[in-house]
Amino acid sequence: SNPDADQLERIHARGETMRVSLNLQPKALGEVESGNVIVDIRGSESPDEVVIIGGHLDSWDLGTGAIDDGAGVAIATAAAKLILDSGKRPKRSIRLILWGAEEAGLLGGFAYLERHKKDLDKQIIGSESDFGAGRIWQLTSQVSAEAQPLVNKIAELLVPIGVAPGSNDAPGAGPDLTPLVKAGMPSLRLHQDGNDYFDLHHTADDTLDKINPHDLDQNVAAFAVFAWLAADSGLSFKAP
Ligand SMILES: [Zn+2]
Repeated sequence: SNPDADQLERIHARGETMRVSLNLQPKALGEVESGNVIVDIRGSESPDEVVIIGGHLDSWDLGTGAIDDGAGVAIATAAAKLILDSGKRPKRSIRLILWGAEEAGLLGGFAYLERHKKDLDKQIIGSESDFGAGRIWQLTSQVSAEAQPLVNKIAELLVPIGVAPGSNDAPGAGPDLTPLVKAGMPSLRLHQDGNDYFDLHHTADDTLDKINPHDLDQNVAAFAVFAWLAADSGLSFKAP
């Protein structure tokens, strides 16, 4: 874990000789099948155009994967449910993707890109939650000039819950969307406070007691605002 690494660094800095004994017990257990779980809230006017939100289902061996990425799955799913429960339907579809096999190398993200190479222009914009369960403090994006006013509106709506507007010069929407963003999909990122993220992620300490439900609520609200406004617009987010 990181605290162990910090301790080694301190011993090293004192100039002491270190002897480290590692007990490694990895095993190859063979290939297994994974998958992306995809749920669409069908749009009322352009259902084939999708706004993507999500998190990843798999986790690291240690801990339970509460912050990486159970929180992201919960946040995106709850945002989609809020919109479903409203009874209203946006013009475009909102696609909730619970990604498979992220930790093994974004395999779900690459598989999705492979399947949607022919309709990349229908992947309107995306944002994934995969940096723990802390409050969102900033929004950044990479969208067309045409869509900038809408992103400004999203940012304005999120100011009261503590989200600062950020630059439109920041491609990136979370790990699983990296293949799509590299292929040209516009992106928006809701940056979480990750000050404790690397103390917990991929360690035995990644457990549910680290998650503050009130912070999750703030995340859900931000994702619901983004997903609804992006999906209910007819704007082209992609720069010409
Ligand atoms: Zn993750």
